[in-house]
Amino acid sequence: MLDAPVDDVLALAHSAGVTRVVTVGCDVGSSRWAASCATGRDDVYAAVAIHPNDVLAAPPEALSVIEELAARPSVVAVGETGLDYYWDRVPASVQQDWFRAHIAIAKRTGKALMIHDRDAHADVLRILAEEGPPEHVVFHCFSGDAEMAKQCAEAGYVMSFAGTVTFSNAASLREAARVAPLDLILAETDAPYLTPMPNRGKPNTPAMTAWTIRYLADLKSVDLADFCDTLTATATRVFALPAPDASAAPSAPVTLSAPSAPPAPPAPSGLSAPSDPSAPVGLSTPSASVLPSVPSAPAAPRDERGQSRHFA
Ligand SMILES: [Zn+2]
Repeated sequence: MLDAPVDDVLALAHSAGVTRVVTVGCDVGSSRWAASCATGRDDVYAAVAIHPNDVLAAPPEALSVIEELAARPSVVAVGETGLDYYWDRVPASVQQDWFRAHIAIAKRTGKALMIHDRDAHADVLRILAEEGPPEHVVFHCFSGDAEMAKQCAEAGYVMSFAGTVTFSNAASLREAARVAPLDLILAETDAPYLTPMPNRGKPNTPAMTAWTIRYLADLKSVDLADFCDTLTATATRVFALPAPDASAAPSAPVTLSAPSAPPAPPAPSGLSAPSDPSAPVGLSTPSASVLPSVPSAPAAPRDERGQSRHFA
């Protein structure tokens, strides 16, 4: 979780052309926080769940609280839920039971399912198939290889890429990104970790996703502005967001600025155009393509405890 004022984090994101974000809960407290943060804002949406690494500490009423929160209009996904076999803190069978319960909540509430999958690809895919996936499934901080990306694509699952895809040792993940269909891709932070190159060592924030997005556009040899539009459309579809304000979109890509240059002025209409130092991107809005943990949720930062490479 980021330890920074929400308004500051969002202002920086907006300056980078990231106009909408999804902030993620990992336990009852942070899920309540995420839902309340999203309430009354049109640039923040929430995901709520008990993270697989947190299920043993969850109170008895946890799932009923999550379901109540998930039903709220500002909550657009049930997650992070899934399986984490890396940390070995919670028996696999226990994680799987909670994962199945979250899948059911996503289906009952009609919200997207946001999956945390760490070293558990086969079981995650198997359980999704066994339970029957919700209409929209997002693999947050996608960490599979090209073969898994093909399987996800066949199932219609969305793959959300974090800064990891920019890392030098991420050849396999890059192959996955090359395989992933453009309309099944999102980008995210996994804040405050996994800051994309060349900013590693700095805290990750939603604004930084502009780097990841630009990297992905290059990797896939697609026009950056078109890619931003596609990301926005995907997020809008998967999270059932209001349609973006098309009238606010600049008609042409904004001049790119060098990574080390000072932030460019905001795009004409306040929209888009990642113009933050980090986001020399062009057009459009990397919108809700982000699945960060915007601000500092209460207590227990999940990332810190759970994942070093993973996001929330
Ligand atoms: Zn995660």
